Amino acid sequence: MKTSHPTWLEIDLAAVARNCAHIVRDTGTPLMAIVKGDAYGHGAVAVGQAALEGGAAWLGVARYGEAWTLRAAGIQAPVLVLGMVTPEEVDAAIAAAVTLTLHSPATLELFAARARALQRPLRVHLKLDTGMGRLGVFAEDAVSFAQQAGRAGGLVLDGMFSHLAVADEEHPLNDLQLKRFGRAVAALEEAGLRPPWVHLANSAAAYALPASRYDLTRVGNVVLGLRIRLDQSLPGHYAPALAWKARLASCRCLPPGWGVGYGQTYLTRGEELIGVIPVGYGDGLRRVPGNRVLIGGRSCPVVGRLCLDQLMVRLPCAFPEGEEVVIVGRQGGEEIGLHDLGSLAGTTQVDVSTHIHARVPRLYIRGTRDDA
Ligand SMILES: *Cc1c(COP(=O)(O)O)cnc(C)c1O
Repeated sequence: MKTSHPTWLEIDLAAVARNCAHIVRDTGTPLMAIVKGDAYGHGAVAVGQAALEGGAAWLGVARYGEAWTLRAAGIQAPVLVLGMVTPEEVDAAIAAAVTLTLHSPATLELFAARARALQRPLRVHLKLDTGMGRLGVFAEDAVSFAQQAGRAGGLVLDGMFSHLAVADEEHPLNDLQLKRFGRAVAALEEAGLRPPWVHLANSAAAYALPASRYDLTRVGNVVLGLRIRLDQSLPGHYAPALAWKARLASCRCLPPGWGVGYGQTYLTRGEELIGVIPVGYGDGLRRVPGNRVLIGGRSCPVVGRLCLDQLMVRLPCAFPEGEEVVIVGRQGGEEIGLHDLGSLAGTTQVDVSTHIHARVPRLYIRGTRDDA
């Protein structure tokens, strides 16, 4: 791809839309595309719009500010804020018709008071803690809490949800959480209070635990074509949306025993071709051993320490300055995935992708990636 940048991300929005269409078809359930954390660093507005094109019914974010960003871009689809909303944000959320998470007695009082004061209904989804130990009320309190919400006035109970803690593993807690949640849904039904949107499944559960699907799946990773587990590739019809590329800054032959980089942790063994890539830890690449990049379809090891803005690699042959380099993505028959960077750094792919710095421009493409 032609760009004016030394390093950039290519985000394939056609892949996002296709992934969403596949999720809806494979799960047989409407989709809430989770675009919190700027769509895990991919760009919330662009990814959100592509997800809606692909058939997502809802978007989900962590904070009110993220919902506002979607509304400001003209997105009118239902948006759920999964996390905390401050008292100062509630009026704006009501005005923007954003759906909020009702997770405690204090949020109930706050939300109801503001909705009554503004004389505008506030849609809420009741959050249950069925074992995650994070936000929510206990499942056995669901009915009394829903009744309280009804009595408070101003609130429309539009949904109920909970979050699974170990859906990406075979674990006895999955069954327990499903049971607790199922009992709360049944109790609400019996009380005539079952809301239209009941949801429990994240990416992992949407596939591994069909009983968790209910009315909506909440999927982040698979929307972006990211793996559910680092060691397991997705079915072939899902494609990663992100590629991270750069241009070769320099290619020089260094003499034997020449030190490379800060701390001189690498010494050339003989004459070696050393390439310089304008990507460093200041762009979000992790300062861990084992990094590599693709040049000319070949895998090249990073040598010496990562710098803030640059890194050095050992090249198998000379390449011209400006040659395209792949940090994440495919080139020739080789591929480096965000899961590889996550594994190297002992963390998740999302931890890696959300830390790709804003100074790396996000360029949006539609399925025209020449290496795909
Ligand atoms: C982030 C998040 C999700 C999405 O999880 P993925 O594993 O990316 O699909 C779903 N639900 C809640 C409550 C979340 O916080």
